[in-house]
Amino acid sequence: MSQVFFPKIISKVTALTGCLLISTFQMALAQAPAAINIYSARHYPTDEALYSDFTKLTGIKINRVDADDAGILARLKAEGAASPADVILLVDASRLWRAEIDGLFLPIKSKLLDEAIPENLRAKRSDNGGTAWFGLSTRARVIVYDKQKLKITDVDTYEKLADAKFKGKLCIRSGSHPYNLSLFGAMMDHLGPQQTEVWLKGLVANMARNPAGGDTDQIKGVASGECAVAVTNTYYLARLMRSSSPADKAIIDKVGVVFPNQSSWGTHLNIAGGAIAKNSKNTGNAIKFLEYLASASAQNHFANGNNEWPVSKGVTFDNPALKAMSGGTFKSEVLPISAVGMNQIKVQQMLDRVGFK
Ligand code: FE
Repeated sequence: MSQVFFPKIISKVTALTGCLLISTFQMALAQAPAAINIYSARHYPTDEALYSDFTKLTGIKINRVDADDAGILARLKAEGAASPADVILLVDASRLWRAEIDGLFLPIKSKLLDEAIPENLRAKRSDNGGTAWFGLSTRARVIVYDKQKLKITDVDTYEKLADAKFKGKLCIRSGSHPYNLSLFGAMMDHLGPQQTEVWLKGLVANMARNPAGGDTDQIKGVASGECAVAVTNTYYLARLMRSSSPADKAIIDKVGVVFPNQSSWGTHLNIAGGAIAKNSKNTGNAIKFLEYLASASAQNHFANGNNEWPVSKGVTFDNPALKAMSGGTFKSEVLPISAVGMNQIKVQQMLDRVGFK
């Protein structure tokens, strides 16, 4: 509020008292704590430490608006040039790509980010040398299964999830959730549209129940016997693996994990990333924040706090759960993010046709 009417008062008073008050006002502005406004789809409580570390390091305060990817993009569009957003954090590569195409980001020029983030994990450089978004961490979409009922070779590909032998045994969250839309968009690239629709139909036929809940609920569904096989992002599984709660330990004892498609195109990988809002009035500090997220300490936080794989070159990390579940390394799918993003409208139409809620 003060930003709106304080200058008006000053302009009236300075007419009477001259430049002494102007300089007092300028000093007040200079001393006002710097702040950035972040719109974030990262819904992980462990990130609080990241934000407070940044403020401690730089003195720059963080104001945050939390919403999901779609909500953030809708809000940016609605706010237009008046948007107070500086930094945008999303948790899906296709949404980052979509926002870039929709012109919601300000291409960033940062030598540090260019050098730290591998080329396949960021937007293509624009003609003026800027980059619309940078991946900051990755997560794999894996299959979990009931160790008592199934063996690893039963479910070592995404295609097998549609096998008739899993009728009534599959738990999976909503098909329209970005994590699934991106997985299905990638499947469409590998299998072609016709086979992908047949595959999605197979998934619907195999569902133990209507899609509901988040990824952790699907893992719990396997442990409780409600289903025999489920799909989850790796960090949800790692969170349970590292939990000291006896209930979580009991869940982990019952489920096995597969990194699918190791002998074909590799496991589907998604990106969480950051960008600068097109109408940011604070670009210098916003870039500082993204550069901080690419630093070794923030990257380690992604690995140890939220169990994601860091992406900055040369960063080492030690997360026993990530190592245990993947056996150290795994083959991940390599696809142009634009292809996965472009497939999503068709995938959504397929989901409607096959009744995947
Ligand atoms: Fe998530």
